[in-house]
Amino acid sequence: EEHYFNEKCGKSKAMITEAKTVIPGGVQHNLAFNYPFPIVITKAEGAKMYDLDGNEYYDLLQAGGPTILGSNDPVVREKVIDLLNTCGPSTGLFHEYEYKLAKKISEMVPSVEMFRMLGSGTEACMCAARIARLATGKKNILKMGGAYHGWSDQMAYGIRIPGTKGMMSKGVPGFVFRHTDEFFPNDLEDLEKHLKRNKHTGGTAAVFIEPIGPESGTRPVSKEFVKGCERLAHRYGALLVCDEVVSGFRIGPGGAQGYYGIDPDLTIFGKIIAGGFPGAGGVGGHRDVMAHLGAGLDSSGKKVSKALCGGTLAATPVSCVAGYYTLCEIEKRNACEVAGRMGDRLTKGLKASIRKYNLPFVAFNIGSVCHLDNAGTMHFAIDWTKPWQLPHILKETGIRQKEMEHMGAAYMAEGLITLAGTRLYTSAAYTEEMIDDVISRFD
Ligand code: PMP
Repeated sequence: EEHYFNEKCGKSKAMITEAKTVIPGGVQHNLAFNYPFPIVITKAEGAKMYDLDGNEYYDLLQAGGPTILGSNDPVVREKVIDLLNTCGPSTGLFHEYEYKLAKKISEMVPSVEMFRMLGSGTEACMCAARIARLATGKKNILKMGGAYHGWSDQMAYGIRIPGTKGMMSKGVPGFVFRHTDEFFPNDLEDLEKHLKRNKHTGGTAAVFIEPIGPESGTRPVSKEFVKGCERLAHRYGALLVCDEVVSGFRIGPGGAQGYYGIDPDLTIFGKIIAGGFPGAGGVGGHRDVMAHLGAGLDSSGKKVSKALCGGTLAATPVSCVAGYYTLCEIEKRNACEVAGRMGDRLTKGLKASIRKYNLPFVAFNIGSVCHLDNAGTMHFAIDWTKPWQLPHILKETGIRQKEMEHMGAAYMAEGLITLAGTRLYTSAAYTEEMIDDVISRFD
């Protein structure tokens, strides 16, 4: 494999070798799989990417989710260039697109009456936790086992860095987790147990869920479970917080909450809301809850306590104009449905290959979020709330992290860029012919 990639991606290897002298690990993203070494992308367009050595790839990574229209969408790009020509990247003052984007989001997602733009999904998760505590006067945050809600101290609870044995919570003092706990996906009894227990330790401020299941649905959850989370959270006086960083404007124009028919108090956005540009994070929700942001009185004239949040480059004109036109184009092109159909077609093709070769793999999708996993691997076998079981489970199933990385590298050799070899995003830039070509390469 190394030899193959040395030949095929020699220029990338040389650059990464240099980069390692000044960048830890040679890359800027701790969460990326980079086996056998990272490749350097020089061009991206629609459903394709090209590396420094001139190799062409199908893009099933979609920058980790944001580029649902395809990479480097010309309409969004032109709008951003127009804006740069008039006011540059940032001024520190209000721009009309802050309003336009907030308005657009509130029109597309009915639970969002008010919206605040932030710098990233991680920041938005932090902000939501603060608002929830102020709105409820309670302390604890509950999240689903294994769910990723960004890398802030408190939310790093229970997460592993892919490709390493380390927990992401390394470097975070244990006391930070005093008010964070996890419940099992698809287990309402377990959620209720936690809610009851929390009554003695300051109550539950929020139940965080990724409505398509933790880790973009790597562990899928049922509709009944999602609705049950909403019911139970409210019964115990907690807010329901939907993390739609991945699913927002991807599963449907109204996000996964529209798909599951829930009305969260707060929703966390990221990725698509800045159309692949930097500054992709935001919190939206019910008016009374969102009143805990901003200055002065809430809309009823009441004085409420305010959460500190913001950032020098939060809500820059660039993020807002890119986000606004991305959402407009999603609607115009019916992008969620188109990308979803491509996801269905891809998954069907993968399932056929799995059957044909009788592989111990499983393929499934929720619209344009597709999963191709080793059946019984860590994602399915692990009780994420007991990470110390990890070595035992890996031994039992015979699956090693290294093997997962090798799969990702094998796909890359076939011209397919995936997220860690196990997650595949489709975009509206794919055609059926392209998906069929992708399927034959997997096959
Ligand atoms: N929540 C979820 C569900 C995510 O998938 C991510 C990012 N992958 C985040 C939060 C954090 O967002 P960001 O990377 O923008 O900080």
